[in-house]
Amino acid sequence: MQLIIFGAPGAGKGTMAQNIQKYKQFSHISTGDLFRRHIKEKTDLGKLASDYIEKGLLVPDEVTEKLIRHELDMIRSDFILDGFPRNIPQAEALDRILQDFDIKLTACVHLEIDPEIVIERLVNRMSCQDCGAPYNLVIKKPKVENVCDECGGKLTQRADDNEETIRHRFETYRAETEPLARYYENKGLLMTVNCNEGILTKLDQVWEDLAALED
Ligand code: ADP
Ligand code: ZN
Repeated sequence: MQLIIFGAPGAGKGTMAQNIQKYKQFSHISTGDLFRRHIKEKTDLGKLASDYIEKGLLVPDEVTEKLIRHELDMIRSDFILDGFPRNIPQAEALDRILQDFDIKLTACVHLEIDPEIVIERLVNRMSCQDCGAPYNLVIKKPKVENVCDECGGKLTQRADDNEETIRHRFETYRAETEPLARYYENKGLLMTVNCNEGILTKLDQVWEDLAALED
């Protein structure tokens, strides 16, 4: 099963990608995570990407496309693309990549959410710097402050989860990413899920709907 997940910042893309693995094993390809790893390791790509990410802007398309082509070439099936495509040119580039590798998409899942809910959620978001487990200081607190329940790692907040950058990310989303809904609807691949109450309670239903799409 080959999936795209897209949605506003904080809608729950990462949470869905992690938790859907209880139904089936997927390779989780997150462009945001890939960029953050490059930034942490101070690679050339990381240096380039951080200027854009800090401002809440998109990293240039050709950079991101090359990264995704490389990942998909290695993976080929049973993946979740989280954070790519993020605009129409990236979606068109993805079509070319999928065609080159003879990969068929199963669905594009759109996570819908109200902006007010997102800002509140993101300023309270933290994650484990070792295993990546997500936390939230309002709705999913760790048992011990700043310590991961799963692995004991330290919890950190993303540098771009401050209110000003969040507003920019939301504007970028509205202008560039939201048009993907129409794009994938026209291909008969769109599945929309409302995430105002979180994705976890919806997951059984989402999975049932996805499984029904496979022959
Ligand atoms: P969120 O969806 O919560 O904003 P992500 O982790 O998906 O977070 O992305 C963080 C940042 O990484 C984005 O704001 C953007 O700067 C950059 N980024 C991620 N994916 C892409 C992409 N496909 N194209 C360009 N930039 C990207
Ligand atoms: Zn952890």
